[in-house]
Amino acid sequence: KGKAKKAAKIATKAINKAAVLGAGIMGGGIAYQSALKGVPVVMKDIADKALALGMGEATKLLGKQVERKKLDAIGMAKVIASITPTLSNENVKGVDIVVEAVVENPKVKGAVLKEVEALLSDDAILTSNTSTISIDSLAANLSRPQNFCGMHFFNPVHRMPLVEVIRGKDTSEETVAAVVAYAAKMGKSPIVVNDCPGFFVNRVLFPYFAGFSKLVLDGADFAQVDKVMEKQFGWPMGPAYLLDVVGLDTAYHCTDVMAAGFPTRMAKLNDDPVAAMYKADRYGQKNGVGFYAYS
Ligand code: NAD
Repeated sequence: KGKAKKAAKIATKAINKAAVLGAGIMGGGIAYQSALKGVPVVMKDIADKALALGMGEATKLLGKQVERKKLDAIGMAKVIASITPTLSNENVKGVDIVVEAVVENPKVKGAVLKEVEALLSDDAILTSNTSTISIDSLAANLSRPQNFCGMHFFNPVHRMPLVEVIRGKDTSEETVAAVVAYAAKMGKSPIVVNDCPGFFVNRVLFPYFAGFSKLVLDGADFAQVDKVMEKQFGWPMGPAYLLDVVGLDTAYHCTDVMAAGFPTRMAKLNDDPVAAMYKADRYGQKNGVGFYAYS
């Protein structure tokens, strides 16, 4: 009761403008969803090609909304106009919230977060869409860790309801409340979770991927595993296909973080098929070939 009263008293910072760092699978999806739900967004990447892909995907998804008569052409144009693709951090100044969605590498994320924090106003909120990296470890080099938390979306962002809001040891209640409200405004179902490598979902998912890898190492055919999981067990996709959707580069980096965080339970496998795919530049759907080939 006391806690509920306290929560009701928290003044939630209004989120009127957002920025997403990284315009890849996730950043592009998050930018699209934010704009669709009425929060204009700056989408920043270091590669022109990524910005073009991000805008292309948003246009494609909006086209589908128009086809389904959920949006008219003017509405679509307005949403597109509310996404600002950019290569410059300057355009990130003045936003209420930043969602960092760059490559799953603690060093790169640490540098990107520190650089952008310096551009933000004192009350702006900074979040990371990291899949596995501990929020406290990312907060370690920030000046305002109270304004920082995890905001972990799932792929594809426009379809998956869940968002994990990850509370670090220094994250303020105000920050958690504002991020929960922003996720809800985006039409998502947020849950608040404590910090640890992998948070909630990836502590379930990565042991499953490890189980799949061990089966393959024991001689199982990956396509057969998928077939059984999909057709007989009834899951929407099997592990090999899901890894192709996630991106085998991202999955490889996540596996590293999980192994470092849980050295016994998530120990690295010798000859891990995920690592083999990554080392062969087979990243999955994003570059046309992973376990399967895509045209
Ligand atoms: P991705 O490879 O599709 O996109 C990453 C993007 O970040 C690229 O466009 C790259 O150019 C850009 N980038 C790299 N360095 C940058 C920098 N310094 N500034 C701005 N942009 C930069 O990867 P993704 O799948 O979108 O993953 C991004 C993050 O989201 C990772 O932390 C990942 O773990 C997490 N995530 C991924 C999934 C998934 O299923 N793929 C799901 C949830 C969370």
